[in-house]
Amino acid sequence: MFSKNVAVDLGTANILVYVAGEGIVLREPSVAAVSTEGHRRVLAVGEEASRMLGRTPEGMEAVRPLRDGVIADSKVTGQMLRAFVKKAVKKKSIFSSFNMVICVPCFITESEKRAVQDAARQSGARQCYIAEEPVAAAIGADLPFNDPRGSMVVDIGGGTTEIAVVSVGGVVASKSLRVGGVKMDEAIVTYMKKQYNVAIGDKTAEELKVTIGSAMDSKDVSSMMVRGRDVVSGMPATIEVTSREVSYALNGLIVEMVAEIHKVLEQTPPELAGDVLQYGIVLTGGGALLRNLDERITYETGIPTYIAEYPLDCVALGAGRMVEELDSLKRTAR
Ligand code: ADP
Ligand code: MG
Repeated sequence: MFSKNVAVDLGTANILVYVAGEGIVLREPSVAAVSTEGHRRVLAVGEEASRMLGRTPEGMEAVRPLRDGVIADSKVTGQMLRAFVKKAVKKKSIFSSFNMVICVPCFITESEKRAVQDAARQSGARQCYIAEEPVAAAIGADLPFNDPRGSMVVDIGGGTTEIAVVSVGGVVASKSLRVGGVKMDEAIVTYMKKQYNVAIGDKTAEELKVTIGSAMDSKDVSSMMVRGRDVVSGMPATIEVTSREVSYALNGLIVEMVAEIHKVLEQTPPELAGDVLQYGIVLTGGGALLRNLDERITYETGIPTYIAEYPLDCVALGAGRMVEELDSLKRTAR
């Protein structure tokens, strides 16, 4: 019987599963391939389903059920979660008596929370605790979460950016912004269409962002050749894009993020804001890896900003720490 507790980071872009005593055992894209005929049955999940995005035959589609941070399809989300948990604990025989801590974006509704809990139970969990993402991110980033000291964590995921100040084990001030990696990709697509009349795919835009994207103009300009389709002639086109253009395309979104950080600081009691000023801001999530984002936030806010050691793993590691100490759960998770 499988009886180790499990933590799940149910992200909009990636799902991570942590097993108590073992650590992170699974990291896969939150994608499901579902049948479009009859019941929407989940046929494949994760990497396998991700390879099918935009390439499925009739009667089937590959979807991101958590796109934009909302649970667009709770049934599919449930089945997907079940498939991942099964995969993560596959070597064990029947799994039936484990508890689960699951992290979801901050602003999901009560009914969405219930849907997640149902899904967790369906996947075999006896008890399911919903943990707040910024809390898990702060713990996973090794911030002194239980101390009476304000710490600011900015988690930039695929669909959302969650900004929070935590102190003494709880969230003091927070904001959630529906801007993340996916919006950045879209901004690059829009720029390319406007500037060159060329339509590029989301994957190509993401590649541009990861390879030459930057949150700040720098002296060394690099460039990348990308392929798309000329929207006027309909023919394939190849163009050279510079890092300067990508950072120009991303700028509006970075400005929005910085404005939200300022708002959260305004909501923060003065002593705790003073702590943030002194100890800095920590960035987590995949978006934290955008080149020069730490420098840009430091420049705009005057507050030293750092990238967590394992930005993509922070939430899962934090939730993992919670399952390792289920006793303290009542304080940190709801
Ligand atoms: P979520 O928690 O929503 O699942 P993640 O924290 O896993 O999201 O981050 C995924 C996002 O991070 C994607 O949009 C991806 O494009 C982005 N990302 C990953 N690596 C980089 C990088 N080096 N530069 C910029 N963005 C990145
Ligand atoms: Mg996340």
